[in-house]
Amino acid sequence: MGKPLRVLIVEDSENDALLLLRELKRVGYETTHERVYTASDMNSALEKQQWDIIVSDFVMPQFSGLEALSLIQTKALDIPFIITSGKISDETAVVSMKAGAADYITKDNLTRLGPAIERELQEKLVRGEREKVSKALREREEELKVLKKVNQLKDEFVGLVSHELRTPLTVILGALNTVMTEADRLSKKEIKHLVGDAYFEAETLSDILANLLELARAQANRLQIFEESVIVKEVIETAVKKLNRQIEPRHVLISCDKTIAVNADRVRLQRIINNLLDNAAKYSSPGTEIQVFVKKENDELLIGVKDKGIGIPSELQGKLFEPFQRLESKDINATGTGLGLVVCRRLVEAHGGHIWVESQAGQGSTFLFTLPMTDKGKHKTQ
Ligand code: ADP
Repeated sequence: MGKPLRVLIVEDSENDALLLLRELKRVGYETTHERVYTASDMNSALEKQQWDIIVSDFVMPQFSGLEALSLIQTKALDIPFIITSGKISDETAVVSMKAGAADYITKDNLTRLGPAIERELQEKLVRGEREKVSKALREREEELKVLKKVNQLKDEFVGLVSHELRTPLTVILGALNTVMTEADRLSKKEIKHLVGDAYFEAETLSDILANLLELARAQANRLQIFEESVIVKEVIETAVKKLNRQIEPRHVLISCDKTIAVNADRVRLQRIINNLLDNAAKYSSPGTEIQVFVKKENDELLIGVKDKGIGIPSELQGKLFEPFQRLESKDINATGTGLGLVVCRRLVEAHGGHIWVESQAGQGSTFLFTLPMTDKGKHKTQ
């Protein structure tokens, strides 16, 4: 059995094509072939199947070797292209090679065809390997760029988190130190106030650590959801109470039927709403209203947190739910770690829901997420 070879012959003379095929058989090829001699037939032949080699006559009544060559170049096909001709002047040969032909062979010297094809197929193989290697190299370079970027983000993040942990810790240490060293001089009210400050800051610390832990679990695919029936309004009210332990309380309008329950992980749902509410307060002015609304939509529960704050330009919205992403804001000097939203996303998705933002710069933002109402959840929802 010969070596298989799919050869597209661009040749108006059937006899010349037969001679060519005979020569290929003689040198050990088992060919499958098609003979074409117009541009449209060549086009269809190229569409129909893959070819290992094209052997084309130089001049034909309706077509030419150079036109055939330019056709495969337009299609960006890497198929070795050999030109044959009754006679080839040096000038024609140079023109053909310059146009990109792999070789040119006179019809009275067809014995050169076998070695020429062998060489071209070999070269194509090498080209393919080289392309594979350089593609792999490009991919590694891309990966390296991404890794460098992630590494840089992690470095920035470690700096940010350390700073964010340090601030409440400084307040806690200061307050407790005052209580310890000046207890005799301080009134009960002052002591209560200082301990209250320490407690509030300890809660902030605990929130940052909880978010960190959730992200670490999610990254390691170890996020486990413990579902139970949760009355949604209670969770929102707890979040609002927590928010309003801050120095400047906020007016939060809750629109949620008190009977709505959903099957969810209570602690995680609390964390999602805490994070969104904290952000709504952080990125809006103290005098403005915040709304939390809950709606049942088909098989899902839709929960939204709306503020009238600084808003987010649409081109930046996509990256908010990625780890460590914070946006620069000239208007509001809010501190943060860039952890809240990515944790929200991971927790919402772990429940089978999704989260997104609707916002415009300067027009406030609404963060929305859905939770599926499972049969169990639906049953408990009145
Ligand atoms: P953090 O608030 O700790 O920076 P988040 O992951 O909670 O991290 O939020 C990421 C970024 O998204 C914030 O830095 C802020 O730029 C933007 N953002 C989040 N919530 C709001 C909001 N309600 N209004 C405007 N920008 C917001």
